[in-house]
Amino acid sequence: MHACHPMRLRLVGLGVSIALAFAPGAPSAQPVGLPSMGASSAAELSPAVERLLGDAIMEQGRHDPTYIADLDVNQYLTQMGRGLAAHAPQPIGQRITVFPVRDPSINAFALPGGYIGINSGLIVASDSESELAAVMAHEIGHVMQRHIARGITQQAQGTGIMVASMVGALLAALAGQGNLAMGVATFGQAAAIDQQLGFSRSAEQEADRAGFQMMRKAGYDVRGMVAMFQRLMNASRLNEGGGGGSYASTHPLSIQRMSDIENRVREVPVHAHQDSPSYWYVRSRLSLMQARDTSARQRAIQALEHDSTHAKGIQRSAAWYGLAWLAWQEKDYAAARTALDKAREGGSGPQLDVLAMNLNQATRAPDALGFAQAAWKRRPDSQAVAQALARAMQAAGQDQAVVPFLQARIKQWPDIPEFRKALADSYDRLGQPVEARRAMAGYYERTGALPTAVELLQQARSLSKDFYVQSEIDVRIRQLRERLDNQRALLEQFKS
Ligand SMILES: [Zn+2]
Repeated sequence: MHACHPMRLRLVGLGVSIALAFAPGAPSAQPVGLPSMGASSAAELSPAVERLLGDAIMEQGRHDPTYIADLDVNQYLTQMGRGLAAHAPQPIGQRITVFPVRDPSINAFALPGGYIGINSGLIVASDSESELAAVMAHEIGHVMQRHIARGITQQAQGTGIMVASMVGALLAALAGQGNLAMGVATFGQAAAIDQQLGFSRSAEQEADRAGFQMMRKAGYDVRGMVAMFQRLMNASRLNEGGGGGSYASTHPLSIQRMSDIENRVREVPVHAHQDSPSYWYVRSRLSLMQARDTSARQRAIQALEHDSTHAKGIQRSAAWYGLAWLAWQEKDYAAARTALDKAREGGSGPQLDVLAMNLNQATRAPDALGFAQAAWKRRPDSQAVAQALARAMQAAGQDQAVVPFLQARIKQWPDIPEFRKALADSYDRLGQPVEARRAMAGYYERTGALPTAVELLQQARSLSKDFYVQSEIDVRIRQLRERLDNQRALLEQFKS
């Protein structure tokens, strides 16, 4: 689960390099040449600092073309990850956030700060929700055991040359001069050095064991771990010679790990797990989203067409859903409706509702708003449905009514930036520039762009004539500046 692929290298390159700046216990004058790993050193890379690194990496990662910004997929994966993490044998120390990466290679990776990336290829290659859970639980195991921090530290030895430029890029970003994108070239260089974390055999087994426990307690079928491992081993074998053999090289002891898990599976009673419909719908859509070229896309379509006639139940429904989604993307709305109706025959899920809402929107269906409201009533836990309802309301000119709706969603899901952006749009149309800027500042704050957030708040401050609002904004600006100062101070320590 630690094969190399471009995004990971780039992100980890960033992670490794910045993390080096916070090298555990390293005095500020000595960022390079860390002592070899002791048991205590990982503890010194505090979870808060780790989170800061993760946030910085994710701010960059969000702009990566392979990052899939999709509330539905993100919520599905993150909920799954947090559900597993709730059963971890030890406290995780980080809040788990799982995001999908548009990449057909079978891979997953953990970044500092509890962020876990899952390649679409891995989700598509899995054959049950338990198999997907197995990989996720393994990655959460790494987070729990603080392997990211330790791996970073070990890897950091000898790559310290990068520190100054990394820190420089981050400081520039914090100062609001350019964004982290300007650091990318540097991180690209960093990636040229082999920076895979290359967890040790014992780290892998620890993560497997923790993952196994999480899977079992969260109600997944532990046999999925064996099945997924087999799949990963086969995939790495196929990749060998094709330049993709790095998976095998970072997992030289997969056979041992495999028998370790097999033994554990034998020791516990077998529990079948019922896949959630969302698993199949998400998987179906990702199979299309990840296609790199026409032939890959053609293969994905053929597979769905095959399933739409030969599969049964939810898998058949998911295949029709994928075809409906594709038709919608291609603006063939009639075909999309037909396929969506077929999908509805075999199952239901927020994905089907959102697609129906998108179709209503695209075709200006007269009952679009009513449908959206009913869908939200059915699925008050779906971020994607809430987002689609907000759009339907905005399309119907209901900006006034959408404001309290979005405010409530922001309370419900404070970390999801998209609702803040939608709120800003409506405030804009309502002619409330102060509130629009405040909402947008919240959006940038959540995506890690603190300087931009401060800038927008300053604009809002000068536009406002209300003393009460002004002082509220002043407090916010002060808080954000403090956060910026803290981050800067951490970085400055390691500036050469
Ligand atoms: Zn691993």
